[in-house]
Amino acid sequence: FDLLQRNDPTLTAMMQRELQRQQEHLELIASENFTSPAVMAAQGSVLTNKYAEGLPGKRYYGGCEFVDEVEQLAIDRVKELFGAAHANVQPHSGAQANFAVLLALLQPGDTILGMDLSHGGHLTHGSPVNVSGKWFKVAQYGVNQETEQLDFDQIRAIALEHQPKLIICGYSAYSRIIDFAQFRAIADEVGAYLMADIAHIAGLVASGHHPNPLPHCDVVTTTTHKTLRGPRGGLIMTRDPELGKKFDKAVFPGSQGGPLEHVIAAKAVAFGEALQPDFKVYCGQVIANAQALAAQLEARGLKTVSGGTDNHLVLVDLRSISMTGKRADQLVSTVKITANKNTVPFDPESPFVTSGLRLGSPAMTTRGMGTAEFEEIANIIADRLLNPEDEAIELQCRQRVAALCDRFPLYPHLRSGQPA
Ligand code: PLP
Repeated sequence: FDLLQRNDPTLTAMMQRELQRQQEHLELIASENFTSPAVMAAQGSVLTNKYAEGLPGKRYYGGCEFVDEVEQLAIDRVKELFGAAHANVQPHSGAQANFAVLLALLQPGDTILGMDLSHGGHLTHGSPVNVSGKWFKVAQYGVNQETEQLDFDQIRAIALEHQPKLIICGYSAYSRIIDFAQFRAIADEVGAYLMADIAHIAGLVASGHHPNPLPHCDVVTTTTHKTLRGPRGGLIMTRDPELGKKFDKAVFPGSQGGPLEHVIAAKAVAFGEALQPDFKVYCGQVIANAQALAAQLEARGLKTVSGGTDNHLVLVDLRSISMTGKRADQLVSTVKITANKNTVPFDPESPFVTSGLRLGSPAMTTRGMGTAEFEEIANIIADRLLNPEDEAIELQCRQRVAALCDRFPLYPHLRSGQPA
């Protein structure tokens, strides 16, 4: 760190400001988390220097004997964590992992079936602005208007009508358990591959708090940086070794060049951490905290989509207080709460305005907060949103946020002058 400070004070100052921002804000973005110092140490290491196109034992470059060990360790750990027969840990991101699956299984012009972005799906599941929507025909399902949950009769009917070659489940803004067996039955009926993208819930799956899709799906993709609490990155798993070979080829040489072995090392650290008993305790607390948050928001008159949560995520439907997501996002940010505006199912507003605020518990649970603190967070949010013009309440909310951040310090070993 001292070296960085001497070499590049401009960059160091920027990193210090980001460290301070992370320390002084309540981080409620559902897709974010705080990695351990060990994960960051592995990522900021000599492994960044090595080219290693190919797979462990089958590289196109010399000198790969030690990065082979690193990558194999990551593969072995993640296979154990999820019970996968085959894993590719090279995708640089969740989007890269999903693209590699499309490349491996489909031809341009084939039909895919995924959830509508505005109902909680991801861009890479068939959005017209993404390659998944540009190169493939797309059929989309949503949630049921009354229950705001998956509706398997609707999904089956759409699948029968459009005969997709690939069905995608797994979402960016869905707070309920996903029944993978029901998706499998529909995929079998129409002869489709089934993919689960568990980017958001991967940690909860690994810890046994959410059903595991691997027994039901042909392929499972995920990011490694959300509930799984690893470095930013992606991952592809399958129980079918033959399909696994196709995914390997679709990652390299199909869509990527050299793997990021320093990131893969950090993934190995995170998988090792997730195999420890305390990760299970952490994930249980993530869910308890999200449920406490949802219950207290509801108690204060802020409706949550589907009336609560089974996982780490809470989607507030602000139509209940006649506010847009854009306004709510701005209001909470004035008291140092970081969240994001998000569409709600059947949203009358545009994606830039929206009627929802997406909240998540993973990051602040990592800081050590429990249900009492999440009730307090719900009260701070409610006080701010219900009194948007009241400056005294705004000041008081800011003080309550600061008090929580002080009680649960983040990266206390990174003193001022030592950037992350
Ligand atoms: N899949 C889902 C369900 C996601 O929510 C996300 C990111 O938010 C991704 C894929 C993409 O991950 P990345 O940003 O690493 O490309």
